[in-house]
Amino acid sequence: MARGNRTRPFWRGSARGARVDWQPVSLTIGLVGLPSVGKSTLFNAMTRNSAVAKSYSNEPNVGVVGLPDARLDVLADMFDAAKIVPATVTFVDIAGLVRGSSAGRGRGNAFLTGLRDATAICQVVRAFSDPSVVHADGKISPADDIETINTELILADLQTVEKALPRLEKEARARKERAAAFAAATAAKDLFETGTTLYAGATAAGIDVAELRDLHLLTGKPFLYVFNVDEEELANADAIAELRALVAPAEAIFMDAKVESELVDMPPDEARELLESIGQTEPGLDQLLRIGFKTLGLQTFLTAGPKEARAWTITAGATAPEAAGVIHSDIQRGFIKAEVVSYDELVAAGSMAAAKTAGKVRIEGKKYVMQEGDVVEFRFNV
Ligand code: GDP
Repeated sequence: MARGNRTRPFWRGSARGARVDWQPVSLTIGLVGLPSVGKSTLFNAMTRNSAVAKSYSNEPNVGVVGLPDARLDVLADMFDAAKIVPATVTFVDIAGLVRGSSAGRGRGNAFLTGLRDATAICQVVRAFSDPSVVHADGKISPADDIETINTELILADLQTVEKALPRLEKEARARKERAAAFAAATAAKDLFETGTTLYAGATAAGIDVAELRDLHLLTGKPFLYVFNVDEEELANADAIAELRALVAPAEAIFMDAKVESELVDMPPDEARELLESIGQTEPGLDQLLRIGFKTLGLQTFLTAGPKEARAWTITAGATAPEAAGVIHSDIQRGFIKAEVVSYDELVAAGSMAAAKTAGKVRIEGKKYVMQEGDVVEFRFNV
């Protein structure tokens, strides 16, 4: 991540035209799937459930939800914080993907607009039986549905690459350093023609995905799957294992979207009882948020004081100044040091003062690599 004092927005690249390797640290999950698989049910439950849920009136299919984090309640008590601010995840409910979309059926490629900006794609797959909900392709078959959606995404990427190739070829002829981008796009086209996603096939095909970044290819994004199952099926280990195997090594989350939408309207005690009655310990919505974070290699660090107890999102491996930059670019620019204590040690000590006395609060410099659950105070000078 390279952010700092620039006269140009950092995502446009440096003034000399070199590419800035900036990694987004917010998580935007695009929900895709055939019609009537439960995407909107899931999206609505998710946004109704969250204390920080925001929706934009001009974009009713976009919602921002907080990542549940019990540590923030503990920190808020300890620091007498006025408010809690969790890390957030943005959800986009993407409608209109049907068999034949890439060939112009239904609303054609309209679904692409929302998906291009997603950092991860969550495929919602129908596994519930309810005969009153008509299946778009006439029969309930998770394997067929996954293949249909993957094929549409691959065909959309194939079109993107085919459209870009003449331009990339011209650039490669004019400037030697563009040859790698042309080669990667040509190899990606061959891969898509075999019906393989970029995510699954890039490594084996020797494709340098960094060269394709500007094309925002859909199948290069991390995928995760939500199987929308009947509540009885949640306890059926064989059925779950079979569905999980369909998408491995991608992560699979199992939930009954209808039950999830009922859970969010219940008092916590009743919700817990209902969850236990269907053999679950954690709501499916929380699992989706947690696993989405993990899939993208994201983690959080914490800050706490009288104003707020807050979780911030960083990529795993981020250094202390990079983490500071997530709060404010000035803090990264003027970074002097970070005072760091792990959440567990802070809680064990009982207070920041006690943790300091016990020698648990470390002074870390510019090279320090942040650890999950670090509670941090940055010292900076601008
Ligand atoms: P979308 O087109 O994928 O957004 O699907 P919706 O969320 O609108 O759901 C389509 C229909 O299926 C609605 O009538 C939902 O109430 C119903 N539905 C969604 N999830 C479930 C579920 O888990 N079980 C059952 N029985 N019905 C569901």
